[in-house]
Amino acid sequence: MPKAWATRLIMAREINAISNCTEILQAPPHSLTPSGALAALQELSIYTNAESCPMCASAIRFSAFKEYIFGTSIPFLTDHGACWSQITLSSYNIFQQSVLLGTSTQFVGNILGNETDPMFAWQFDESAPCPSSCVRTNIDATPTCVPTKVT
Ligand SMILES: [Zn+2]
Repeated sequence: MPKAWATRLIMAREINAISNCTEILQAPPHSLTPSGALAALQELSIYTNAESCPMCASAIRFSAFKEYIFGTSIPFLTDHGACWSQITLSSYNIFQQSVLLGTSTQFVGNILGNETDPMFAWQFDESAPCPSSCVRTNIDATPTCVPTKVT
């Protein structure tokens, strides 16, 4: 049965990852209690290719991960045409406003942005260069990327 749109919206990448991680921690061989699984998150890092939306950044802070690490920033995404429903509040602001949680999560932004930024630009900005393995062409009047070589 397909999930309702609203359910898919709140099950964003990071929230899905946190949910999967806590399920794994509660299953054998770890077999942690729910509170034990939450405590274990304080020893783990969460990585994302792009900066988390405010909802996911809040979930990361509530989960009390040891570290939050991302590549591409929200301003870079919006500047390059990634205009899905996005709230432009930085995850840094979420972290600054979460001091009353009583936990800490190290904020580590723009890690490998030199690698993730070009891939996001390519995905959302038709004027951005292609990666080395593809080229843009028009297929049925639609700009489309195709591989430069067959593997
Ligand atoms: Zn999100």
